[in-house]
Amino acid sequence: MLRSELSPTSHQPVANGLPAVRELLPCFRDWLATQRDEAKALTLLRALTDESLKVAGSTDLQQLEFDALDLAQACQWPECDDFDAASRKIKSANLEKYLSSRAADQEAFFVRHGLQHALRVCKRSPSGRHRAQWSLEPYLLGSPVGIIDAQSDNELVEARLGADGAQIEYDYAVAGTVRPSWLARPLFGSGWFKTRSLRGLLFACTGLAPMVCVAGLVATVWLMLFVRRPVTTADLAFLVFGAGLGWMLWSSIRSLWWLLADRIIPVADVLLGWSEAPAQLESFKDGNARIVGMVRYSATCPVCAAAVELRYGEGNERRRLFGCCVEAPQEHVFTFDRVTRRGRRVR
Ligand SMILES: [Zn+2]
Repeated sequence: MLRSELSPTSHQPVANGLPAVRELLPCFRDWLATQRDEAKALTLLRALTDESLKVAGSTDLQQLEFDALDLAQACQWPECDDFDAASRKIKSANLEKYLSSRAADQEAFFVRHGLQHALRVCKRSPSGRHRAQWSLEPYLLGSPVGIIDAQSDNELVEARLGADGAQIEYDYAVAGTVRPSWLARPLFGSGWFKTRSLRGLLFACTGLAPMVCVAGLVATVWLMLFVRRPVTTADLAFLVFGAGLGWMLWSSIRSLWWLLADRIIPVADVLLGWSEAPAQLESFKDGNARIVGMVRYSATCPVCAAAVELRYGEGNERRRLFGCCVEAPQEHVFTFDRVTRRGRRVR
């Protein structure tokens, strides 16, 4: 693999009394294999472990360090040739929180395998132009877990401030980067359209058609009031069918109304490409034109480092979007503000 721009600064050797990383790597890999999260942090840790295993025999400690591009390549992310994007993605994955929130499980796993040491992530941030380097390092079970930053910087202070997981920051994928399904492609093209265009007209029709259907349904019911005969099974079947259809039409009209009034609604899965994570429809202004596009607000849960997706609240907050952690959607809940792209913990 490509080793890019390694720092010539001195590296602290592993302290005496600690086992070599290569002795703990297989156990760490096995523990990662038991994890069942949809977290970027898990993908990253698996990649870091696999890459470390490939060079585990090396005596050069710098061989065991990887920068953001190395990790993005190992994860086969699209950011594998954009250092800044890869760094941002790794930072947002919150490796520290992922490991610290699962420390008890990891340590118990190492103890069951007869080990007294476990692995944690070490981030070395050299000064100047040199890139931050990530590696795995052993620690004695019982000492605090988290990313060890060899040179403390602002990120560490931020990590401490956000340690209680009270704040969340959302990442934003602009319209055009979220791929619509083949069903939605005639309307959304590459993911967005202007409201004053042929596609905008088509979109208005998707709102008008249900309204016409609802009007037709109401007219049918009104006409039936003039029919003077006993109720038949066919009437009951029509009632059930009409009520179901009316409810479906009403919810699609309501979604479009909420898109206009609230600027954002979640996209139905049927409109999204197979491999796409949940996304939203957003209406925003670009100069004088109003645009409706598929965008994605996503975040990493500051409590457990799993993915956070937007969902509607319950009860009085049925119309309000919240950021819910996919692993604990009822417990790790955050507010969502599409303007500031920030939120705070609700529960
Ligand atoms: Zn969570």
